[in-house]
Amino acid sequence: MNFYDSDRMTDLLKPHGYQLGENEDNADLIVLNTCHIREKAVEKTYSELGRIRDKINARLINTGKRSIVAVAGCVAQAQGKEIMKRSPWVDIVVGPQSFQNLPELIAKVDPSNKNKNIDIDFPTIPKFDNLDTNIENRGPSAFLTIQEGCDKFCTFCVVPYTRGAEYSRPVISILDEAKKLIDVGVKEITLLGQNVNAWSATGLDQKNWGLGRLIEELAKINEIQFIRYTTSHPLDMDLELIKAHRDIKKLMPYLHLPIQSGSDKILRLMNRKHTSKEYLRIIEKVRYHNPHIAISGDFIVGFPGETKQDHHLTLNLIKEINYSQAYSFKYSKRPGTPGSTLLDHVCKDIKDTRLHEVQELLRSQQLSFNRKTINSLIKVLVLKKGKKKNQYLARSPFNQSIYFNTKEKNLIGSTVNLNVTEAFQNSLAGNIVSNIN
Ligand code: SAH
Ligand code: SF4
Repeated sequence: MNFYDSDRMTDLLKPHGYQLGENEDNADLIVLNTCHIREKAVEKTYSELGRIRDKINARLINTGKRSIVAVAGCVAQAQGKEIMKRSPWVDIVVGPQSFQNLPELIAKVDPSNKNKNIDIDFPTIPKFDNLDTNIENRGPSAFLTIQEGCDKFCTFCVVPYTRGAEYSRPVISILDEAKKLIDVGVKEITLLGQNVNAWSATGLDQKNWGLGRLIEELAKINEIQFIRYTTSHPLDMDLELIKAHRDIKKLMPYLHLPIQSGSDKILRLMNRKHTSKEYLRIIEKVRYHNPHIAISGDFIVGFPGETKQDHHLTLNLIKEINYSQAYSFKYSKRPGTPGSTLLDHVCKDIKDTRLHEVQELLRSQQLSFNRKTINSLIKVLVLKKGKKKNQYLARSPFNQSIYFNTKEKNLIGSTVNLNVTEAFQNSLAGNIVSNIN
């Protein structure tokens, strides 16, 4: 979502005379867009700010020009004042729900750097209403935020505090942005939301639409050839969305459905509001309607109170599901969350060992999933050039990176059929069979 927000900030600033620079060295404005989900991400913010200070000082000495520094995103939201105190060279702090105000905040920057601009409101007029800007080149594949914020309050998570309450963007506004994206050549859209499948709004027929129905509508647009979405919550996985994976060919057969832990005790402590059995049943239903779908997820190891037995329940669940790939993290205590008051912390060494075990298992599942795709024929959108000569990168229907070689020029943005020839841990290799367009 931060990639999406950064793109929107770039679009927003274009009419004000800004364009994307190559690096920070000679930038008039530096926007650091930040993430607060885990502690590591916050530490990175402060180390990046130190690096930025050196860059702007060097520019001032060499050219006499002063750069404006803005910190955006969820660390800005959660620690605005702290950032200004610890990093006085920052001019602007702007939260994820108010970045539409960036041009005004920039205009107000005080060259003496004494008066600071902090905007971390959750405005009553939704941000998107004020973001009706042109869309600049995105390449063949683009994100489109349809939902933001979260009302689920998992005890480990800062999202409800930094991104605010759950908000579903209206259908018209989504279709309008989709149209702008296809006008700049986009052929694949990834719908985004902290809980993307909680999206619901009044449809074009005045009935209530869920994500499955929205995808059906987007699939009617000829230019959109591939549709993906992320991230989903098990409780919002309704039958319409599940059946969309059976019926809508443009919807890619990949579902990222985090569970976090295989232990019902830990799921309760996390306030996930579902059991591991209920999760397994949802996956069963998804696979019943689309047997080839790739399943991905998120896991947290070492949540307070997690015993060896709980950890084994997680490993067992992973074995039972058999993921195509999944993300896993050590529990990180987040300020202000209910989890941060729990006392029964798991020590670092045990967390490390458990993370290693979870990741080893997931890696082996990923490699065997990748290997199973060898010799299959897949239709893909060519995303960009690879690092090697004559090499291109595409994404498989199952969300795997796939590389292939061809001497053909200008393939980016075209759809090709590939035969998968080799499988590695994190990617595939293929041969071009035919160009579709
Ligand atoms: N809405 C999604 C997840 C959004 S956050 C869901 O409910 O599943 C993305 C991932 O970051 C989470 O799935 C979780 O695995 C991880 N995460 C969030 N808070 C964390 C924390 N405090 N420590 C470690 N990992 C965390
Ligand atoms: Fe965070 Fe996801 Fe839970 Fe919401 S549902 S609180 S975003 S982990």
